[in-house]
Amino acid sequence: MITLFKNANAIVSCDEKDTVYYNTDLLVEDKIIKTISKDINIKADRVIDCKGKNIYPGLINTHHHFFQTFVRNLETVDYPNMSVPQWLDTIYPIFSLIDNQVIYYSSMTAMADLIKHGCTTAFDHQYCYTDKTGIEAVDYQMKAASQLGIRYHAGRGCNTLPKSKGSTMPDVMVESTDTFLNDIERLANKYHDPNDFSMSQIVVAPCQPINSYKDTFVESVKLARKLKLRLHTHLGEGENSIMMDRYGMRTLDWCEDIGFIGDDVWLAHCWELNQEEYKRLANYKTSISHCPSPAILGGFPILPMKQLKEFGTHVSLGCDGSATNDSSNLLDAMRIAFLMQCYFGKERGGSISGYDILKMATYEGAYTLGRKDIGHLKENMAADLFMIDASTLELTGTIHDPKNIIPRCGVTGNVDLTMINGEIVFENGKLTKIDETKVNSDGEKVCTDILRNNSDAFTPYKNGF
Ligand SMILES: [Zn+2]
Repeated sequence: MITLFKNANAIVSCDEKDTVYYNTDLLVEDKIIKTISKDINIKADRVIDCKGKNIYPGLINTHHHFFQTFVRNLETVDYPNMSVPQWLDTIYPIFSLIDNQVIYYSSMTAMADLIKHGCTTAFDHQYCYTDKTGIEAVDYQMKAASQLGIRYHAGRGCNTLPKSKGSTMPDVMVESTDTFLNDIERLANKYHDPNDFSMSQIVVAPCQPINSYKDTFVESVKLARKLKLRLHTHLGEGENSIMMDRYGMRTLDWCEDIGFIGDDVWLAHCWELNQEEYKRLANYKTSISHCPSPAILGGFPILPMKQLKEFGTHVSLGCDGSATNDSSNLLDAMRIAFLMQCYFGKERGGSISGYDILKMATYEGAYTLGRKDIGHLKENMAADLFMIDASTLELTGTIHDPKNIIPRCGVTGNVDLTMINGEIVFENGKLTKIDETKVNSDGEKVCTDILRNNSDAFTPYKNGF
């Protein structure tokens, strides 16, 4: 299949040189970008007129919990007026009800939201394993990803510490370390493709240090290095005092001590780290996944992005799960991240630019996931891209700076087109590979049967709407 994008207003490559091409064509052959140049004359299977349109590299989401997508828009989860324990007491009983139908449809929902807003590679941190899901949750997610056509990196998570030993997880979500490790081997054999243009990879991702035995993390490091898989966890999100009580160490020291650090590791949040720790992450080439929406909703400190850039710390972008962000929209996350940095820039010696945030969501996302074939637009890279229409009336007066337009101007609606691995998966407001109406109605039924009918948290539904 040969697709020719003809005469784009701008192609923002996000490459090492920050190249922007104007009035240029982009040729895709099968799954690869073949050429970016002016006036390409070749017989293509499809020619797309891109007059007035901007093309960007597909966005890369580096932190999420798809299963939480059916635990959102809940008035009973009132972030600003809840303590963290109150919040956990509200959401964990709902998590305990989750089965694989919820996993499948909530994953479809989250990934559809991602694709419609320009995301082409999604990482998910799946740590919800109950007696109803068994071990097959990632299998259901892989099925959903392949049906939608999105590139999917699955983080197989776990919690091994019971509540009686200090965990915050309900016991129904606790697994043994052996179950976890054996399942990673099973998933890696079945799905992990380390080659260029891979559509599925597996990541070793114990949920967070305070909710598992130390041994789980130690063994995770050994297994990940043996199988050449990447490692991920939550870190620096308010747990340091518990780690000090339990181990006499801050979490990053604890991770360094057991080898859970390096260029094959990335960590979600990290707002509780100090300057020395941010520099240490830079030295180890360990990435941070910055999730701006949950930081705002939870009222947590905001990452000092300008400093991190000066330290050379790698930072990518994530939506996070819907228990702390009610949407899976990275365009929206980019704008929130930009506004947050501007707000704090005055006291912290300046902000990074809107374009810096776009690079976090593209180039840095690829670094974080260990991919050299995605994250910027160049010949022989994977054909992962999205397009916006910059010729609409609401964007009039913005076309002079396509690099900054998305974070600065609030381009947060559906994109014009999303292509993944050379295939158009979203166009003209429609997902091209699934029957969206049917998946929506089946998903609503599952949400009602499994969650709404069994939890008091779903108001006003529970009050009889
Ligand atoms: Zn998270």
